[in-house]
Amino acid sequence: MSKIQAIRGMNDILPTETPTWQYIEQVTQTLVQSYGYREIRFPVLEQSQLFKRSIGEVTDIVEKEMYSFADRNGDELSLRPEGTAGCVRAAEQHGLLYNQQQRLWYRGPMFRHERPQKGRYRQFHQVGIESFGMSGPDIDAEIIMISAALWRELGLTQSVRLEINNIGTAADRQAFGAALTAFLQQHEADLDDDSRRRLLSNPLRVLDSKVPSTQALLSDAPTLVEFVSAETAAHYDALKQLLRANQVAFVENPRLVRGLDYYNNMVFEWITDDLGAQGTVCAGGRYDSLVAQLGGRGTPAVGLAFGMERLVLLLESVGTLPASVQQVLDVTVLASDGVDSAQVLTLAEHLRVSLPGIRVLSHCGGGKFNSQLKKAYNSGARVAVIVDPAPASGEPTVRLRRLDDEGRSESVPLSALAGALTGVLSESPVTA
Ligand code: ATP
Ligand code: MG
Repeated sequence: MSKIQAIRGMNDILPTETPTWQYIEQVTQTLVQSYGYREIRFPVLEQSQLFKRSIGEVTDIVEKEMYSFADRNGDELSLRPEGTAGCVRAAEQHGLLYNQQQRLWYRGPMFRHERPQKGRYRQFHQVGIESFGMSGPDIDAEIIMISAALWRELGLTQSVRLEINNIGTAADRQAFGAALTAFLQQHEADLDDDSRRRLLSNPLRVLDSKVPSTQALLSDAPTLVEFVSAETAAHYDALKQLLRANQVAFVENPRLVRGLDYYNNMVFEWITDDLGAQGTVCAGGRYDSLVAQLGGRGTPAVGLAFGMERLVLLLESVGTLPASVQQVLDVTVLASDGVDSAQVLTLAEHLRVSLPGIRVLSHCGGGKFNSQLKKAYNSGARVAVIVDPAPASGEPTVRLRRLDDEGRSESVPLSALAGALTGVLSESPVTA
């Protein structure tokens, strides 16, 4: 019978890869908590209407990337393509946004039916950070500073650059859209098919086109800067001041627009040149009308999301991953020939209790000592604790064997094991 394979673009994350994921997740969690953000969890499946109303009907995501279906009751549902919409829906539904400020974060899988390639998958994972109820540039700066701090923690500061833009209010964009449409209509014949279609439905999305000939055409197009209102310009200027004051370097990209309709004022992306075409690792901006658009009271908001897969790829390509991340085992416990293997289980448990946090593998399944030792070397542990036959009299001892190229070993009384083990584990490993 043929074997069933995973769905194209939906990756298994294997045990060799999960340490990197867990490392990023741990660094992220510690970091966002240090800024007072609290985690929120919400379903991967929502009413399709939620995404249509928030992301926008005429966007790549809603037009062609969502996994949508009618369930057994005939309800129109979609797998979430991003997190902001669900986060707002959940926060609003539970009254978290009513007259309050909220700092929230989430992480989990998102789903988009895109063409799979390096850094672009159909199930991918995002971490999102969102703040509600604050309208000033200070909270915008905070959101960006969290991401800057994350790159610092991960050793990626030299690998990413920040691009920012002010996309104005919805009214500003409407005026700009009209001017852009007029310009593009003069060059309609040179546009790619998607862009020609968008010309009338959502002209700003043409700016985001990845087609080189369309991008070339756009260099002479009117720019949004000419249309943004004084109010958003002042907010944007203040944000730039805050970023400078906090040593966050940025470049202004007047053509930066986002692929989702809900953004206004400030938008930003963190971009790397180390991942080829999929260079955006993190993106975000202000979205002051989304809460009202989803039926709540007008609530200013700003947030970001970064893609885990692209961060993992970037960490691997830049090589800033600490070696200790791959070290997932400290000790393995084995039995000498002739020793009852039941003692292995008991001793391993004793170690876990007396040295909290230690990672101990008990050898299960018996077998000759030499074959146990071979497995111990392959296990990735740094030390083997070997249970020897009990002496005729006196205290039982065990052997500590370093699983490095020298393989030095020493005999230790059971009562001194925890201390001796701590000592051996703090040594730096010997390599040939
Ligand atoms: P892109 O321009 O690369 O398509 P996007 O603008 O669609 O990205 P967002 O919706 O802003 O991306 O999502 C934020 C982040 O999530 C991206 O910067 C990226 O790191 C990640 N991301 C988005 N789509 C995918 C995908 N299909 N596979 C892997 N990561 C993704
Ligand atoms: Mg996209």
